[in-house]
Amino acid sequence: MIEFKNISKVYKNNHIALSNISLSINKGEFVFLVGPSGAGKSTFIKLLLKEIEPTSGDITVNGVNIKKLKRKEVPYYRRNIGIVFQDFRLLQEMTVFENVAFAMQVVEAGHKDIKRKVPQMLSLVGLSSKANMYPHQLSGGEQQRVVLARALSNNPGILICDEPTGNLDPETAWGIMDLLNDINKSGTTILMATHAKDIVDRMKKRVVAIEKGVIVRDQQRGVYGYED
Ligand code: ADP
Ligand code: ADP
Repeated sequence: MIEFKNISKVYKNNHIALSNISLSINKGEFVFLVGPSGAGKSTFIKLLLKEIEPTSGDITVNGVNIKKLKRKEVPYYRRNIGIVFQDFRLLQEMTVFENVAFAMQVVEAGHKDIKRKVPQMLSLVGLSSKANMYPHQLSGGEQQRVVLARALSNNPGILICDEPTGNLDPETAWGIMDLLNDINKSGTTILMATHAKDIVDRMKKRVVAIEKGVIVRDQQRGVYGYED
């Protein structure tokens, strides 16, 4: 469902962030993206989101070459991709319920859909009882659960997680990983960039390692492979 074919990205200062990488990710896969800082992981994610354009090569998602998307088609394309960041990025002046509802309003979901779907998503992440609380009243793990509920509210086929456990203690991080595993088992493709060695080593999922803009390793049931 995701195919990078001979993708290179050279930034304006002539820095080569990705150098001729090719990679296919099938529907329903769980893939860890690992590698040192500056390796090109964020560039990979930004290309997939069509936030930046490759210097050369083609990216195909669900059979569509995303280079060919018209400007007004891009928001529809992005709707199929949920995103979870390390720093949560919740709207502080909105309740948990409103944060998830807002994501649905942005894509013009109907009132009835929102009223039905938001409680369903909050239940999925185990936060039904906190619907009327504000982000600052929640623990880090709970805030990340809200982010997950929000990311999943529009039924994305792909979930991108950029260091989703980076701000969480190990136990809380495992709670989030359990949830990601469940989400993946229900059919969502997950791409997770991470430096969490313990998590990668124990999950036994596919591991793609990038170093200096090239894929140096692509293992099924892989390991983290670095000491940091
Ligand atoms: P990672 O996410 O693995 O840390 P990035 O994709 O952020 O790596 O960066 C890859 C390389 O590209 C780094 O050397 C970084 O300094 C460089 N880079 C990233 N964004 C830009 C940019 N907008 N302009 C110039 N160089 C950039
Ligand atoms: P907090 O963020 O308040 O510290 P956690 O996210 O750490 O709470 O949850 C505590 C534990 O409960 C975790 O280890 C996690 O495994 C488990 N847990 C709670 N709710 C869920 C859930 N909906 N799905 C999976 N595990 C959960």
